[in-house]
Amino acid sequence: MTGLRSTGAELAAAESFSFTTADGVQLRLHRVGPDDAPAVLLVHGHGISSEMFALPEIRNVTDVLAEAGYQSWLLDWRGSSRLPHNESGRPYTVDDVALYDLPAAVDRIRERIGERPLFVVAHCIGALALALSMTGGLLPGLAGVVAQGVFLTPKVTTSARMRVLLGSELIGSRMTHLDSDFRKVGLWSKRTLLYAALSRKGDCPDPTCRMVQHGWGMGAKLFEHDQLHARTHDRLSELFGAIPLSVLPHLRQMELAHAVVRWNVDDERYHALPENALDQADRIDCPVLLLTGSRNEAWLDSNKLCYDVLSARNPGVEVRYTEIPSYGHLDTFIGRGAALDVFGHIVDFLDEVSARDSTSARNA
Ligand SMILES: [Zn+2]
Repeated sequence: MTGLRSTGAELAAAESFSFTTADGVQLRLHRVGPDDAPAVLLVHGHGISSEMFALPEIRNVTDVLAEAGYQSWLLDWRGSSRLPHNESGRPYTVDDVALYDLPAAVDRIRERIGERPLFVVAHCIGALALALSMTGGLLPGLAGVVAQGVFLTPKVTTSARMRVLLGSELIGSRMTHLDSDFRKVGLWSKRTLLYAALSRKGDCPDPTCRMVQHGWGMGAKLFEHDQLHARTHDRLSELFGAIPLSVLPHLRQMELAHAVVRWNVDDERYHALPENALDQADRIDCPVLLLTGSRNEAWLDSNKLCYDVLSARNPGVEVRYTEIPSYGHLDTFIGRGAALDVFGHIVDFLDEVSARDSTSARNA
């Protein structure tokens, strides 16, 4: 796999290929699971890569989907810690992921799968981008979507809000990224004090773990420490990459609006995206499962709020909500017990929608 940062384990994909978005960024897709099966596009979050769905040390979501008869398509979008764009490409916001990356990935997958159903499962920033794309009408005809942690109504704690602001102000400085690997920062670099502040919270002796677990100083835990496999815990610095600061002002704007909003308001190129995704929620044309851990500190009860708002305002959109007890945010995918506690909910949703769709296709 040329162009990818080498990590401990390479994914045993049936097919892996690069493709280029309309604005010239090279992304990657990997396919795993049975041939000629319904397809599921997996969209990772910020600061990490598609590897979050394929950890070899646990029974991961691609294993569970394959056993249930689904083919997984793992996307590395421009914010993937395994693609060079994340660190050396030009700055981007969630708008770029929504306008360019997700539609291009769906096009490439459809070229391969033809008329077979295509689902999307998206985590965190990936789910915010999915919300923008879908309400812009850029991903029509999906069979169903699962949004983990957040979807149309982002909501964070007051302390996280303050820290995001701080993060945004770092942009005026010469820093463009936050490193995730504490060892790379160095003991006495100019940035040592900043990183010491970012990794201050938490009890774990591993500073990389403290920093990543607490969202690079955002004050909210990204995962429940005890849900991780020891092997996953010991290679967090390998799984995560640098965090580009260019995304933070957009996230802050969404948080203030409690809605997924477009960042590039005056730029013609982005006019396909809605100014406010919630106002165009009626363009969502497939069933939606909103998933979250009961201890999600990153986005709190954003998805419960989303469920309530969509149910009240958009009765035409089929939406359901599932909360996973004792889970936080990222551990819903990388937790050692996620196959038992989380992935069954995803498979049940895909199975139910697939069974219904095939019945209605037969009756048509
Ligand atoms: Zn730890």
